[in-house]
Amino acid sequence: MRSTQVAIIGAGPSGLLLSQLLSRHGIDSVVLECQSEDHVQSRIRAGLLEWTTVELAQEAGVGARMMREGLVHDGLDLAFANGRHRIDLKGLTGKSVLVYGQNELQRDLIEARSDEPGAVLWQVSDVAVHDVHTPAPRVGYRHEGRCHELRCDFVAGCDGYHGVSRAGLPQGSLAQYERTYPFGWLGLLADVPPLNPELVYASHARGFALCSMRSSRRSRYYLQCSLEDRVEQWSDGRFWDELRARLPEQHAARLVTGPSLEKSVVPLRSLVTEPMRFGQLFLVGDAAHIVPPTGAKGLNLAAADVRVLSRGLIEFYRSGSATLLAEYSARALGRVWKATRFSWWFTALLHRFSADPFAERLQAAELEYLARSAAASRSLAENYVGLAFDET
Ligand SMILES: Cc1cc2nc3c(=O)[nH]c(=O)nc-3n(C[C@H](O)[C@H](O)[C@H](O)COP(=O)(O)OP(=O)(O)OC[C@H]3O[C@@H](n4cnc5c(N)ncnc54)[C@H](O)[C@@H]3O)c2cc1C
Repeated sequence: MRSTQVAIIGAGPSGLLLSQLLSRHGIDSVVLECQSEDHVQSRIRAGLLEWTTVELAQEAGVGARMMREGLVHDGLDLAFANGRHRIDLKGLTGKSVLVYGQNELQRDLIEARSDEPGAVLWQVSDVAVHDVHTPAPRVGYRHEGRCHELRCDFVAGCDGYHGVSRAGLPQGSLAQYERTYPFGWLGLLADVPPLNPELVYASHARGFALCSMRSSRRSRYYLQCSLEDRVEQWSDGRFWDELRARLPEQHAARLVTGPSLEKSVVPLRSLVTEPMRFGQLFLVGDAAHIVPPTGAKGLNLAAADVRVLSRGLIEFYRSGSATLLAEYSARALGRVWKATRFSWWFTALLHRFSADPFAERLQAAELEYLARSAAASRSLAENYVGLAFDET
């Protein structure tokens, strides 16, 4: 039987970042991941980092490559009514965001953790958490054909929406608040130069579109699509035609197309689990909450949870004080609900929900208001770049 101070389930960004931060403070952890290293490293997901996330990566010692290769963005474009309006993020808030793929961050974290052999166990199965309401929780798992048990002081459930940490809790021990949206996003990745130096969020009668990027040579585009849509129904040609149709003419004329490297459909949902702590088990990141990707908050919220939890664990092992750990759930949820509100609002602002002329006119009025009001633009900007920690 193996022992560690913190057992971490899941080697996504939250699990690896937590493990890396703890390691820098001399705290031992073991990460149990059900997928292979290659699979985790190549998953195409989020790509926009708030500056607090960048700073946390730097604190963890994995910020160097992102500062060299990431793209600093000081603004974004809203496209509607065949025109465009720039939101000056830096001018309105003094802050920027960084475009850097989640898969690149995963790569940096995996490389950093590989300095400690055995700190991450890949391709484990049958993970089950026991005795979280005692001071000596255990995590059972199967690895390389054999059953094992990990004894620990704390368990961090960083295993995402489909993980076992939340699912294994007794019925009735948590409250879940959920909203599903009647559409999904169809994403396409291609090695073509981005349409615009900054992200373009387009609201159109045919549906929402987002023009994003991963680098100056690689673009990531999204279309609002039906929940029934399958990738096979969307040839590259159909995708590019539809994207062009949803953009203002000045943008559409500049669109450079090419063969897709990847295409995927994701449903959109908001989900918040309360509380985020059960005895010695802490839920972190997507294991506790999901937001629609419109506000680019999923990865950033996961990092924010890690920030709060890592400080609590560091304080506990340094001084024996459990004060910050006791505050984890309330502190994390304060930020989670504000990001959930923003992601819901930004989604409602830009997507087409139904052919309801009243709702469409309200959307158009709000977009015009945003374009003319510095106060409304500032509110969007301060949420988009990420609220300061003392505001949440
Ligand atoms: C397809 C997709 C696209 C996305 N696009 C965006 C985007 O454009 N913008 C944005 O902001 N956010 C996006 N997100 C959300 C963002 O990627 C997540 O918020 C972020 O990955 C959360 O990190 P995490 O570490 O908490 O969870 P995850 O990244 O989900 O990591 C959880 C890890 O736990 C592992 N795991 C699961 N179950 C078990 C188990 N039983 N045992 C052991 N390990 C387990 C998983 O394999 C995974 O490696 C997207 C998410 C998905 C799924």
